[in-house]
Amino acid sequence: MSELDRQSTAIGTVEWDYAPAPEARDIVTLQERYGLFVGGELVDPRSGEWFATIDPSSEEPLAEVAQAGPEDVDLAVRAARDAFTNGWSDIAPSERAKYLFRIARILQERSREFAVLESLNGGKPIRESRDVDVPLAAAHFFYYAGWADKLEYAFPNRRPRPLGVAGQIIPWNFPLLMLAWKIAPALAAGNTVVLKPAETTPLTALLFADVVRQAELPAGVVNIVTGDGRAGAALVDHPGLDKIAFTGSTEVGKAIQRRLAGTHKKLTLELGGKAANIVFDDAALDQAVEGIVNGIYFNQGHVCCAGSRLFVQESVYEPLVQKLKRRMTTLRVGDPLDKNTDVGAINSRQQLEKIQELVRSGEEEGAEIYQPPCRLPEKGYWFVPTVFTNVAQSYRIAQEEIFGPVLSVLTFRTPEEAIEKANNTPYGLSAGVWTEKGSRILWMADRLRAGVVWANTYNRFDPASPFGGYKESGFGREGGRHGLEPYLDFTAENGG
Ligand code: NDP
Repeated sequence: MSELDRQSTAIGTVEWDYAPAPEARDIVTLQERYGLFVGGELVDPRSGEWFATIDPSSEEPLAEVAQAGPEDVDLAVRAARDAFTNGWSDIAPSERAKYLFRIARILQERSREFAVLESLNGGKPIRESRDVDVPLAAAHFFYYAGWADKLEYAFPNRRPRPLGVAGQIIPWNFPLLMLAWKIAPALAAGNTVVLKPAETTPLTALLFADVVRQAELPAGVVNIVTGDGRAGAALVDHPGLDKIAFTGSTEVGKAIQRRLAGTHKKLTLELGGKAANIVFDDAALDQAVEGIVNGIYFNQGHVCCAGSRLFVQESVYEPLVQKLKRRMTTLRVGDPLDKNTDVGAINSRQQLEKIQELVRSGEEEGAEIYQPPCRLPEKGYWFVPTVFTNVAQSYRIAQEEIFGPVLSVLTFRTPEEAIEKANNTPYGLSAGVWTEKGSRILWMADRLRAGVVWANTYNRFDPASPFGGYKESGFGREGGRHGLEPYLDFTAENGG
């Protein structure tokens, strides 16, 4: 056993006993069954199919949810078209803004309810849903409410017009936040939408349907069709849509792009990532360790921009890895509704199996694994925060998106080598740089092929800041003024 291992094992035996601090779940009233939200009403699916949605931390069923079939998707698209043509596209932009402000305020008023439900259905720690997901979702509606009546100023001399009806497909890692990223700019730009949440996390989208009604948004402006990938595919194929916005895996994103080739539908894709988090020897190491932990263990690593490849300058490799391992022993894995929990449940059995398979491949290929001592609950889907050292760039754990709490550590000697290695990936969504030199940050940011580069921080989001990828991480931007553009038509036929 190396000196480092001996120290980390010794550190790992320290017990940190906290009293349980569970958030009360009675603020959430679950219905037994949820229909599809079409034309302002929750309706039973024409498909006649329902499925159970569960709490991944206990595998307990929470409710039954409708599986939308092609006929249901068609009804939702018609409702959205009707709402677009008969009112929404013509009302004064300042009126559209009022609805968005109203939605933002209701999200704030009902924030605890949303946070608890997000953690129940998705497995993420309440600390994150309460402090990140829900406030950011509200912030997106506030932000885009502000743009709704200023589009002429956002795009001077370009005569922006809404596209029409947008189909929006979102994943399970940030259910409410991704909904906000999609719906807020689309509505601000004057479009109507049909949104499909992920199969495993439909409940906050269905609670959002209630917010839409509370805000008295005209019927059909927002429609929500739940179901598995078949519902997503039916939406992609529907001829009545003007645009598809998709966030999810690169594989499904590529399939959607192939299906839409040659059609009139516009497309934006926000896909996977394998971000490099790069630590130079002049960085403040303790802060960097916090950024590394936040970069990969936030939301169980179910984050498209997760800092899943850590590049450490060789001269600080030993102390940094030692600090990181020590910090990992303090991470608390367990009940998502406990306010002390740092790492919650893995979103689904399928995702857990994918993580386990990739971790096995890392061990078989020769990487060294470290997992802090950790008691996992007996039921539910869990994975111990994991770090791999001795990783070669060719290993699958350094190449593929794991989408779990698993970090691969690699090293570099010079800034040029860091750039070369960081860019050696088919993805290009995000990156992090840790150094005390501003000039080095700018030098690195110029050369990293990533849509977002964080400096001396990680996983920072702001509605005013555009987000999106290069290469196989997708195209188009969400957030900021840029996030409005994919929902607007500037063509000459449209008067522009
Ligand atoms: P998917 O890409 O399958 O899911 C994203 C969304 O697309 C979901 O709403 C999904 O529905 C829907 N969908 C699935 N198939 C189709 C289709 N053929 N046409 C249209 N829509 C479809 O991601 P998974 O949930 O399967 O996760 C797989 C992997 O993808 C993860 O392990 C992770 O690596 C990556 N991922 C990346 C994300 C990102 O933000 N970049 C987000 C989620 C996953 P349904 O939920 O019913 O399958």
